[in-house]
Amino acid sequence: MGLNRMRGKLVVGNWKMNGGLAANEALLSELKSAWTSVPGREIAVCVPYPYLAQANAALEATSIAWGGQDVSEHASGAFTGEVSARMLGEFGCRYVIVGHSERRALFGDSDAAVAAKTVAALAGGLTPIACVGETLAERDAGTTMAVVLRQLDAVLGAVGENASKLVVAYEPVWAIGTGRTATPEQAQEVHAGLRARLAKSDAAEVCLLYGGSVKADNAKALFAMADIDGGLIGGASLKAAEFLAIARA
Ligand code: PEP
Repeated sequence: MGLNRMRGKLVVGNWKMNGGLAANEALLSELKSAWTSVPGREIAVCVPYPYLAQANAALEATSIAWGGQDVSEHASGAFTGEVSARMLGEFGCRYVIVGHSERRALFGDSDAAVAAKTVAALAGGLTPIACVGETLAERDAGTTMAVVLRQLDAVLGAVGENASKLVVAYEPVWAIGTGRTATPEQAQEVHAGLRARLAKSDAAEVCLLYGGSVKADNAKALFAMADIDGGLIGGASLKAAEFLAIARA
């Protein structure tokens, strides 16, 4: 059930619903030729389902990992439009994003659904990248920690002793795709709270990513913070040079 991962540096690209066969080929081959594997540092791309076979073929002989952007909480059956963890595994996925704020806000993924998807991902041998984050209204109301801990607790309650197999991404909703980044101090404060909560589940060494308008020019300061182990990168992951510059930061 899932893999125990060491706390290393990890930078994951979330392509969202972008790409096409030709554009992906160019992006993947640029990543392949420019990325040299470094112990303790990993990069991955989470691509739309139809491009998993392409990512698998392009990246299987490299140190670059790939994954999906969502997964069904169910193992199989009459769930039209859904994709199971086992299917993702068949295409070589190591990771899958669960609970991205776009899924929560646009597709109604509740804390309970995110928790069930996380369990399904682990059962399928994948490493879930469980996303948490507050809206601007929640931050302004002073409820940031309450919100992200509620979201994290839902996942932790469901995965039990497998908490150390997770990757967790803190993505303030107000920073995603807006060009507005949390300051390194704002992000670190939340990461420290998440890590303290994870420590209570014997998972203090979980890899904690920050996401929200990370660019080459702000990545270094964010990744220098004590509890930030890397990033979940949206828009900037579609440009090889920018994504690699972030990964090297
Ligand atoms: C994301 O989609 O997870 C994300 C962080 O997007 P962006 O980097 O574009 O803000």
